[in-house]
Amino acid sequence: MRRSLHLKLVLIMVLLITSLMVVVGAFLMNSVTGYYINDFYSQTAAAFGQDNVDFVRDLQTAGEDETDSAAMMGEVLSTYEGVLGVDRRHRNFYVLDGATGRYLTGSAPEPEGGVAVTPNIAAALQGTPGFSSSVTAGYMDAAIPITRGSHPYIVYILDNRETAQALNAEMFSLIIEAMVLGLIISILLSFLLSKTMVNPLQRLTDGIEEVARGDFSHKLEVTSGDEIGQLTESFNAMARRLETTIADLEKAQQMRKDFVANVSHELRTPLTNIKSYAETLSDGIGELPPPMQKRFLGVILNESDRMAHILQDLLTLSRFDSGRSELRLTRFPFAQAVDDTYQAVLMDAQNHAHTVELRLPGSLPQVRADRERIMQVMMNIVSNAIKYTPDGGRIVLSAGIDGDKVWMEVDDNGIGIPEGDRDRIFERFYRVDKARSRQSGGTGLGLSIAQEIMNQHEGALYLVDKAEPGLTIRMELPVAGPREEAADERE
Ligand code: ADP
Repeated sequence: MRRSLHLKLVLIMVLLITSLMVVVGAFLMNSVTGYYINDFYSQTAAAFGQDNVDFVRDLQTAGEDETDSAAMMGEVLSTYEGVLGVDRRHRNFYVLDGATGRYLTGSAPEPEGGVAVTPNIAAALQGTPGFSSSVTAGYMDAAIPITRGSHPYIVYILDNRETAQALNAEMFSLIIEAMVLGLIISILLSFLLSKTMVNPLQRLTDGIEEVARGDFSHKLEVTSGDEIGQLTESFNAMARRLETTIADLEKAQQMRKDFVANVSHELRTPLTNIKSYAETLSDGIGELPPPMQKRFLGVILNESDRMAHILQDLLTLSRFDSGRSELRLTRFPFAQAVDDTYQAVLMDAQNHAHTVELRLPGSLPQVRADRERIMQVMMNIVSNAIKYTPDGGRIVLSAGIDGDKVWMEVDDNGIGIPEGDRDRIFERFYRVDKARSRQSGGTGLGLSIAQEIMNQHEGALYLVDKAEPGLTIRMELPVAGPREEAADERE
């Protein structure tokens, strides 16, 4: 990865510097040529302009007995060489015949094959000054028609542009040097840059590899706020999420294992009892006294009921788990349901010498819920209070409304639940005292089912903290019922 990223960086830098230099070079060289051309024409125009009327007059005015006007003009031009910028090396002046364009005299001898007729000379031959030159041409020139005496002449200034070209060549080599230097610097810089980019990426890769190996403890340090920093943050978030998901999965797997073990255990005990009592009965047919036979059969019946009870609870839970359990929603008075529960358990409570107190407010609304299931929850928590309170206890059933929810609380002064077990009593098969629960016919599934039912109703079931001994458990139910449309409405 390091190599390819570095290579890409070097390539980008090289391309950047080269294109920059090419553009700058072309621009500079073009402007140098442009500058020289402008300078040439402004100098020539100035020489022949208003400021130099003497010069033009000297050129136009012929002497009294002048024989060689062209030579005289040549002399005038020689004196004005400085003004014209004529150096006789790169720039020369020529005096041409105004009618034919033929060389008459000049600061340089006649070029071989005569002075070439340029567009400017052609214009001057027509009587108009020629003052233009293309940037691409290898020369620049100006041709000014001058009439001396009565004869037409052309003053022709020709510059071979060598000065500009020399400067351009100089500049070109400078640009090349700068480019080479720039390239060297950029390649060195790219090492540094690639290091700052590649190192965090390398750290990220190492971290990902560790997570891939299953080590989630490794948290990557976010060292920058750029894209790599953001990537690192996203990766950390993803790793955290993955960790919790895996932990949840492991927990679910463990719960499933525990559940299967619990089910087997719960069913094995009654089954073993049934088997041993049935064997004793079958071995002792005709020998066992009838009261004993009756007792044994009673045990067998009890244990089968217990098994049926467990299986019934398991089926209910499995229907909840698979989402196949639909609520049969109806509207019913909540207070009535609480009162029905109270009436139903009263006898059982009295058998245990408990005092049961019912505290209902004046009015409670109708609720939209599955009445049978809600009654099941109420019965479960009140029966638990009766079961887990030593005889002669006090149980208070209260209900009320809080905002858009109704509630019922069952408070007892029984054995309560040790602090460490409070969180777990809604787990399947969880019982604080297994023997006691089993003895009283408990399966350890009642509260899990109750909580599932309350969740389905978008209500809640939870323990309320209290200082006195015993337990307070509270159920809450939204008056309007669950929002889920899946519920099977039967009003
Ligand atoms: P069980 O069928 O064993 O009663 P539950 O799911 O109804 O199962 O209750 C789970 C456990 O919670 C019980 O075994 C018991 O240990 C504890 N528990 C429930 N209600 C009370 C209560 N009112 N007082 C003390 N312990 C309770």
